[in-house]
Amino acid sequence: MAPRKLAAGNWKMNGDLAALDQLDDMAAAAEGATCDVLICPPALLIHPMMARIGASDLLVGGQDCHHADKGAHTGDIAALQLRDAGATHVILGHSERRADHGETDAMVRAKAQAAHAAGLTAIICVGETEAERDADRTLDVIATQLAGSVPDGANARNTVLAYEPVWAIGTGRTPTLDQIAQVHALMRDHLSARLSDGADVALLYGGSVKPANAAEIFAIAHVNGALVGGASLKAADFVPIIMAL
Ligand code: PGA
Repeated sequence: MAPRKLAAGNWKMNGDLAALDQLDDMAAAAEGATCDVLICPPALLIHPMMARIGASDLLVGGQDCHHADKGAHTGDIAALQLRDAGATHVILGHSERRADHGETDAMVRAKAQAAHAAGLTAIICVGETEAERDADRTLDVIATQLAGSVPDGANARNTVLAYEPVWAIGTGRTPTLDQIAQVHALMRDHLSARLSDGADVALLYGGSVKPANAAEIFAIAHVNGALVGGASLKAADFVPIIMAL
């Protein structure tokens, strides 16, 4: 089995009911695509999105979940609730969650275990800050995040990894193709050493992916797709990225 290709859109805290109009063209693209196509909207939009896309191939995911399966956690959402709403995936450990909510590798790992127990695929995010890259610490940082964030129960069906350099997110800047290749090779080596099917786990790149750079990024070894923020909000931007994969 080769890694399953995935074009994943992360709407972050953007979008409303009117934004669901964008889904028609994305769903049409998903029908003919050679990759899986996923949109992770704000949790409030998951139910209306499921109703809107009907039996389409478009997949729907969450942007975070709690590590507990239920209980007294005001404002949080359980992985089981995402699953119940129709989600198949959940993004975990995005750098904005790590920065805004103090999420540690151990917290991300616990959330991934909850996602797995609920039958969700965890998209676990790692990435260095600009200061870490400038200090030549990128590979160490990624290795530490992988060791801490990826649970032992991970496999190619329940886990996807996303390399997202913090300094490339929403900035229009991207690493060189060689820099992406180096980190993706490290991720593949890490997974292959730890998991029996580590060679088959999909590895995404994220950070300022747009129609103009998607094809060259997708041509890099061990890049099996993208986690796309800004360019996933509009079908006119996201559909060409889907088609490039
Ligand atoms: P961007 O965000 O595509 O807007 O840079 C990517 C992400 O944060 O997942």
